[in-house]
Amino acid sequence: MQQNVRTLGSRTGGGSPRRHAVVIGGGLAGLLAAYVLAEHADRVTIVERDRFPEEPVSRPGVPQDRQVHVMLESGQNALEGLLPGINAELRELGVPRLGMPDDIVQWQAGRWYRRTAATVHILTGSRPLTDWAVRRRVLAGPRIEVVEGAEVTGLAGDARRVRGVRLRDRGAAAAGQEPRVLEADLVVDASGRSSRAPEWLTALGAEPPHEELLDSGLAYASAVYRASRNGDSPFGGVYVVANATQPLGAVLLPMEDDRWFVTLSGMRGSEPPTDEAGFLEFASRLPHPVLYEWLLKAEPVSPVHGFRKTANLRRRYDRPGRRPAGFLATGEALCAFNPVYGQGMSVAALSAVALREALSDPRRVPTTHRVQRALFAAARPAWDISAGADKNVPGATGNAVAPRLVDRPVDWYLHRVEQRATGNPAVGAAFRRVLSLNAPATSLFAPSVARAVLFGPTPWTPPEPPLTPEADATAR
Ligand SMILES: Cc1cc2nc3c(=O)[nH]c(=O)nc-3n(C[C@H](O)[C@H](O)[C@H](O)COP(=O)(O)OP(=O)(O)OC[C@H]3O[C@@H](n4cnc5c(N)ncnc54)[C@H](O)[C@@H]3O)c2cc1C
Repeated sequence: MQQNVRTLGSRTGGGSPRRHAVVIGGGLAGLLAAYVLAEHADRVTIVERDRFPEEPVSRPGVPQDRQVHVMLESGQNALEGLLPGINAELRELGVPRLGMPDDIVQWQAGRWYRRTAATVHILTGSRPLTDWAVRRRVLAGPRIEVVEGAEVTGLAGDARRVRGVRLRDRGAAAAGQEPRVLEADLVVDASGRSSRAPEWLTALGAEPPHEELLDSGLAYASAVYRASRNGDSPFGGVYVVANATQPLGAVLLPMEDDRWFVTLSGMRGSEPPTDEAGFLEFASRLPHPVLYEWLLKAEPVSPVHGFRKTANLRRRYDRPGRRPAGFLATGEALCAFNPVYGQGMSVAALSAVALREALSDPRRVPTTHRVQRALFAAARPAWDISAGADKNVPGATGNAVAPRLVDRPVDWYLHRVEQRATGNPAVGAAFRRVLSLNAPATSLFAPSVARAVLFGPTPWTPPEPPLTPEADATAR
């Protein structure tokens, strides 16, 4: 198996033994990639700009970790395959698990969802806690080392082969410290959406990847609350999905330690404020006061944190180009999504599974290009959902924005799916399977779904937010 890291480091697979892999970034994608690489290499080094905190708390390198993070069912399954028992561990740490749609009061496509029996489940722990639990497991691996508080500043090697990374202690640039080289046979970029690898490749004389960008202009603001005078909530959470005529969105979800995450979101021109009074006022303008009234009886236990880097951004390392062997990109360094679809952590886990499969496939030599394509394929369904929906958002910008004529009938159909999913449990179940990355989007065109979408009557939906789950999902 160790042969595979050597092969990735060289298109021919020849040369002296090279079995050291370096992963840039110790976020979720980097940790999980390192874990898989350790099955194939003598040594894996994660280089992380931050110092990992001992406790599950926020850190500067993952500024989005103060925003709500849900783990989709596909992500839970992928994580479980990589780190058996991790979901039970997360639950023991207090991470809530919610069924959809029965636990959530959800407003979408201008309607309230029926709270019929759950067909998928989400985990709603905070991002720092999820990272901490995964990190604890991954760093216990015998062949994994971490260089903390060190920043990668470039790649070593040439346009044909990457031979390591250049790094220096964080903050040492001011003191004039020159970067040192950490040699490696394989370098995996998992440094997140702000990855500078395209520049680093250019500096080696290689081609940077083509970048596809689609920015809906969505802005987030989040704060943590205690339920206080809300007592036992009649719902597990509230979810308000924005649309073309109603640009405000909101999420209320429980997290560990009896606290709740409240995230408000708005499209370009409707960004949520980050002061407490403005945050409340924004919530009062949602299509229904259910969340606002909850907030009035709750106690804020954190400041409001804003976040605006939410564009869909995909780097096409899979396309042919003059790029070196021994370099891969994964996680948000490869493909970052509009976070409103809650996909990034799940894709990080699915990508690690894809990496494992590509490196272990006995039928194919795992060349750099082949493995990169496998990582690209793992992120593709999420991109199709996220970028596919965002290209229709009024005011969206970027080079991937232009809707094609051929997309129009598909968009019309998907809009009808979204509407009918609220009241038709079978359509809702099919829709959720796709959104949780458990089934391909093509499954929405299966005859049983298409019949209901195209020819079925407009299903009944509750006129007001349903405060109790339906006892009999098939009653109406
Ligand atoms: C507002 C918001 C909400 C989100 N909500 C969800 C959600 O509900 N569900 C979900 O699944 N996903 C969500 N995501 C996405 C999720 O945060 C990421 O996609 C996921 O964490 C995978 O990220 P990553 O590991 O690739 O990168 P990151 O988590 O960004 O980690 C990158 C790491 O690389 C390190 N690093 C960066 N540069 C260097 C360098 N030069 N040298 C060394 N280290 C470096 C950083 O310090 C960091 O540790 C959300 C994202 C945002 C922005």
